[in-house]
Amino acid sequence: MNLDYDPSIQGFERFCRCSKACKCGQGTEHEWSWDEKLVTKTAELSEHNLEVKFHPGYSNGTAAVRGNRILDKDRHHYWEIKMLTPIYGTDVMVGVGTEKAQLDVWEKFCSLLGMTKDSWGFSYTGRIQHAGESRHYAMPFGQGSIVGVHLDTWRGTLQFFLNRRPLGIAFTGLRGLQLYPMVSSTAARSSVRITHSCSAPASLQMECLALLRPFQKRYLTVIFPGLKYLTQSILADVLSINRNDDEDEDEYEFPEEHLILDDFDFALVGYGRRKKKRRVIFPETESLEISP
Ligand SMILES: [Zn+2]
Repeated sequence: MNLDYDPSIQGFERFCRCSKACKCGQGTEHEWSWDEKLVTKTAELSEHNLEVKFHPGYSNGTAAVRGNRILDKDRHHYWEIKMLTPIYGTDVMVGVGTEKAQLDVWEKFCSLLGMTKDSWGFSYTGRIQHAGESRHYAMPFGQGSIVGVHLDTWRGTLQFFLNRRPLGIAFTGLRGLQLYPMVSSTAARSSVRITHSCSAPASLQMECLALLRPFQKRYLTVIFPGLKYLTQSILADVLSINRNDDEDEDEYEFPEEHLILDDFDFALVGYGRRKKKRRVIFPETESLEISP
């Protein structure tokens, strides 16, 4: 039984200031959930398999859960995991793993994700780990924090977010692998929940979208209402948040609610044709030629 609370893990940041359990940050889009077929008695699923409680009685080692589908290739995948209870003990980790990644380590308390070459993990202590090697990466997370994960299966990069702020690329070289989302925990009665999961093709359209500044996206949404599926998607925000880091003139906004984006929407907005060139004047000084 492991109830060690590490007092050095302090000062983590919550997503919101609510004093009790709340629904802040809860999304409506869920492309996958935890795989109930792989869950043993070390974990309990609820809320349509979106929520998991590790070690419901007491902790006798390390447990992990895995998503119920492979994260498809050549796409941007983004999901968020909210820490519902106090996070403590040897380790609680968020990350990805292949089919070979171990899900249960009986009678051993360990930092499971990244312990071998089959998984990649971000620990609540702020460290990241892969193939048994770990290094400092970001600030710690704890109860009430939301950890976001952006896996670009086209470039093979993995980046984490904490309370919707990007923490920088944690791992590269993941291209061509068949990966599943994962969470591991050694902490008794620790619960986490998938609050959002979505994906979009890694396309030229997404690359272009990422280069637009927030006011340009707002303007495009007004003149081409069909584009709102792109411009107001959480993925567009995730991608552009990295590109526009240096620009402080237009404060980045990460809205609570996003439209649901799927391949059908992409097909729709990609289909539109205009016969004449249309000149779009952006507020202030910039202008842009849009060709048919
Ligand atoms: Zn709240």
